[in-house]
Amino acid sequence: MAEDSARQAPANVVARVKALRDEINHNSYLYYALDAPAISDGAFDSLMRELRELEEQYPALIDPTSPTQRVGGYVGEQFAPVRHASRMYSLDDAMGIDELNVWLDRIEETLGTLPPLCCELKIDGSSIALTYTEGALMQAATRGDGNEGEDITVNIRTVRDVPLKLRDEALPTIRDLATPCELRGEVYMPKKSFNALNEAAEAQGKQGFANPRNAAAGSVRQKDPSVTAGRDLSTFMYAIADQRMLLLEGQYELLQWLKRAGFHVNPDVKLCHTKDEVRAFCDDSLKRRQDLAYDIDGVVVKVNSFALQESLGFTARAPRWAIAFKFPPEEKATLLEDITVQVGRTGVLTPVAELEPVSVAGSTVSRATLHNEDEVHRKDVRVGDTVIVRKAGDVIPEVLGPVLSLRPENAPVWHMPAHCPSCGSPVTREEGEVAYRCVAIDCPAQASERLIHWASRGALDIEGMGEEIIGRLHEQGRLHDVADFYTLTFEELAALDTGRRNKDDQPIRLGKTVAAKLVDAIDASRTRSFARVLFGLGIRHVGKTMAEQIAAAYPSIEGLQAATLDELAQVEGVGEKIARSIEVFLSTPDNIHVIEKLREAGVTLADEAPAHALGGEELPLSGKTFVLTGSLVESGMTRDEATAKLKALGAKVTSSVSAKTSYVVAGEAPGSKYDKAISLGVPVLDEAALLHLLDTGEVPH
Ligand code: AMP
Repeated sequence: MAEDSARQAPANVVARVKALRDEINHNSYLYYALDAPAISDGAFDSLMRELRELEEQYPALIDPTSPTQRVGGYVGEQFAPVRHASRMYSLDDAMGIDELNVWLDRIEETLGTLPPLCCELKIDGSSIALTYTEGALMQAATRGDGNEGEDITVNIRTVRDVPLKLRDEALPTIRDLATPCELRGEVYMPKKSFNALNEAAEAQGKQGFANPRNAAAGSVRQKDPSVTAGRDLSTFMYAIADQRMLLLEGQYELLQWLKRAGFHVNPDVKLCHTKDEVRAFCDDSLKRRQDLAYDIDGVVVKVNSFALQESLGFTARAPRWAIAFKFPPEEKATLLEDITVQVGRTGVLTPVAELEPVSVAGSTVSRATLHNEDEVHRKDVRVGDTVIVRKAGDVIPEVLGPVLSLRPENAPVWHMPAHCPSCGSPVTREEGEVAYRCVAIDCPAQASERLIHWASRGALDIEGMGEEIIGRLHEQGRLHDVADFYTLTFEELAALDTGRRNKDDQPIRLGKTVAAKLVDAIDASRTRSFARVLFGLGIRHVGKTMAEQIAAAYPSIEGLQAATLDELAQVEGVGEKIARSIEVFLSTPDNIHVIEKLREAGVTLADEAPAHALGGEELPLSGKTFVLTGSLVESGMTRDEATAKLKALGAKVTSSVSAKTSYVVAGEAPGSKYDKAISLGVPVLDEAALLHLLDTGEVPH
């Protein structure tokens, strides 16, 4: 039908519409990507107006890649999840020139020589992933947890420097246009626009954003795309999920290509050949930081060659071939109004500096942890002091120390209270520990912190189950331990008194809509991975990454309960202290009882596929174990290189052959491992089979 009406548009209109779109796209490219506008804003607007009028007259001519089609419909209740084509990693940080030097030395040592390095500004915005198929923008997503983000396509389409269509000249570089191509970068809000936005919010008595980064992240997560369209957002693109999709050799070439494709690419980039050049780029960027129109928080140094990047590979967190040189933090002076004490879920008492709000490195700081009593004394900070606050790295504010000359007379030395501020029990300090603890088993602060932790995003992620609701349920005796979440009913949640009152002084109840969402969210949390459950249980010293590692080694609670202390201590990263903490936790009767209740509630206590980490991705060789023997002459790869490549595909590479080994790869002049493989009946691959496997990811039969 669309074609029928399209035919009804006279040929001259069809041609005019095409010419207008080409002209508008070309001028957008000149304006946004090249920063070299060729026509006035007024002329540009009149082209847009004409195009819009023609499309209104002949709606069948409308095409989603038309420049008029940036603002679309509402997002709906929630942003849909989007799985990334490959993990969106973080970057390792170099805090200062010494750490940068260490990284540069390591790269030189590993590769035998210093390779060309591509230096870019580290844009302080929010990561985005844009997927193009056949050259058209199909999807835009946030980074999320690295594996899975949120679908923000309708909002990103409103960002005017994001091309809805790639420019023709860039297309031949893409190996296969039909395969979705995920390109990555940063969406940011220029400083000027951020200030204007906050001033406008203030004028309306609304709260503004803390910094431009939050403003950008908040703007792309609007439910109504016309709100996003009204925010002045820009992007800088700098990466691709899978370099093999492009006929390019390295990062610098990628940036040039992105520009040719129509993207906004940051002009401050330099291909450096010496360490001095890298250091000079960092120095220079730091000096120019204040003059830039947008926030940067450092410089990213990347090994330029894609082949070398591949051989260096990734750690669990970040690529080995890149480093973020972070700028030194900013410092400010402010008043220490009070020191309060927080009780954590393990009973640790933490002193917290309550500060007169101050803006540091672009965000407002009003509280900062003082860690423990020793730290308060070491820093010698007292209530009433003027203190220096630093925003260390990115997010965590830190109190450096007092300005002694400004100390009020008789300011008293601070001491940890003798009793828990939450339950009033006496606090204790164990020999050799800095922390004071409240060890009361029924301390409400600890219990509610444990419940809050269970429901939090990184753990069981019970959306909507926040501190306030948990606090109420806990006070009312409906939540004692984490398994009680699964006994909550729709009726009782709907009737829950929020503690607030309406204008007729009647209690405000949670209501059916919220209750229904909570019931769904609780239900959904039953299927989270075992690693998340382990993390959610709040075992001392078992953070998120540790929980993943433990779940990879022991994918079920039974397995973990059966493991000996020694076996646990053998798990990568665990060691004796953590092993003991796990053992104590799992053998405490109360905890065993909670675990049983969780099992009855149908919460995941074993992973079906052990290779799944927290939201981790399944790779072609996940679960397979390889052993290498002999030298790989055909490809000239070293064993380390082959190992790195196998690992990148998800395989485990070990040094000795056992019946559990999936394959032995035998190069020329293989050693005794080859004989052992034959005797155990482990399949042996020659080098050609290995190369085929690395190329295709296909497991041999
Ligand atoms: P972090 O989150 O501190 O580990 O830093 C990693 C993030 O820096 C990435 O996820 C990107 O969002 C961001 N970033 C900003 N500019 C760049 C750049 N030029 N190259 C790579 N990453 C960048």
